[in-house]
Amino acid sequence: MSLKINNVANKLKAVLCLVLVFTCTFCLFAPISAFAEKTLEDLRDEYDKIEQSIQQNQQNLNEVEGEIKDNKSKLNKLNSEIDDIQAQVDILTNRIDILNGDISNLNSNIQNVTKEIADINIMVAEIEIQIAENEVLIVETREMLLLRIRENYMAGGGSNLEILFSAEDMTSFLTRKELVDRVSENDSKLITQLTSDIVELNSLETRLETQKVELEGKKVQLNADMTTLTARQDDLQSSMDVQEEKKKEVTERYEEIEDILEQLDEDSEEYKAIIARQEEERKIIEAQIDNYIKDHGSQVGDKPKDEYNNDGDMIWPVAGKTTMTAGYPAYSNGKAHYGIDICVVGATGGTRDENGKSYSLGKPFRAAQGGEVIIAANDNNWNYGFGNYCVIDHGDGTQTLYAHAQKLYVKKGDVVQKGEEIGAIGETGNVTGPHLHFEVRVKKGDSVSRVQPLDYVKKP
Ligand SMILES: [Zn+2]
Repeated sequence: MSLKINNVANKLKAVLCLVLVFTCTFCLFAPISAFAEKTLEDLRDEYDKIEQSIQQNQQNLNEVEGEIKDNKSKLNKLNSEIDDIQAQVDILTNRIDILNGDISNLNSNIQNVTKEIADINIMVAEIEIQIAENEVLIVETREMLLLRIRENYMAGGGSNLEILFSAEDMTSFLTRKELVDRVSENDSKLITQLTSDIVELNSLETRLETQKVELEGKKVQLNADMTTLTARQDDLQSSMDVQEEKKKEVTERYEEIEDILEQLDEDSEEYKAIIARQEEERKIIEAQIDNYIKDHGSQVGDKPKDEYNNDGDMIWPVAGKTTMTAGYPAYSNGKAHYGIDICVVGATGGTRDENGKSYSLGKPFRAAQGGEVIIAANDNNWNYGFGNYCVIDHGDGTQTLYAHAQKLYVKKGDVVQKGEEIGAIGETGNVTGPHLHFEVRVKKGDSVSRVQPLDYVKKP
């Protein structure tokens, strides 16, 4: 990604350098007032430079616009990526919320169980105290009994004392049948009551202890559940962190591309301004060429020289079967076009044969009317986009222009006759394929205008 950005940055740098070079080139152009001292060739060279620089800038602009398009589609992709990630983040957030609810429920369950256990512990402690008190009471009662038995024995009793002292515990002592008779009824009842209390208390304690064990088991289970939930929560949180990180990265990339787009937009505006400026320069130079015709060409009302044999009736400049592929004053795309484009066609009406070879290339074109060649460029230069071209002044204020020639058969100063072959159709200059570009100019007083050629020539 960063590599791509560097590429773009380098391209922009290169492009800005070009801009500076073009700007400097324009600085070198002499002011219009100096035109009078310039030759037509100087003008052509200047025109060529501008034309090439326009082409170069147009190409740069196209590249920049291509970059803008690419980056916009990248932005769209990143946008939907961000949306997807956000959707995932939303789902994770939901799941975490639900888990948090579960954990909170579990926590209150654990708290309840812990409280129950604590309550049981308190109850067990109370029971143990009760049992201890009962045991103390039993000991005291037993001592009282012993005292009475001793008194009884002293008063003439038998071997009960021995039995009493040999008894191993209170229960065996109390169940001795022979002693029961000697114990007073109240004492006997008390001991029975206490003994039965102890049994009950012991059984209660046992039940409570069982309950406590159950609760402890439940608490262990709840804690295990809690551990599982917490682990799941940690998992979700780390997924969430990953998504957030991804979102951050994608957003950063988005912002980088937005910056690039902004830069490219600015750049594109610069190119458009440069191209507009150059178009202006071209118009100025075209006007200067018209001025050349104003200074050197014939005008309406002039009488053509006899040697031109100008009969006032122009002919279609290409012999044989032809078609017009573009008209005056604009192409089908709306861009200005000040002439007509003529192609030679084959038997079936196409401009190329089955092998893609042009029928026009190398075929001759001819003077629409007799006259004198006043401009002829046969140097294979760009020449306003006309390539090899010539202009014939017909002596009556009309001039015809023939462009994109493969080569010219005439030179400046030649007098040509109507229908004379003056060059071969080619694809020099600004063309998409071989054809003849044909213009008619009319000089009237001080003005030179490019007019509708079909008002002067008719396709046979
Ligand atoms: Zn054309």
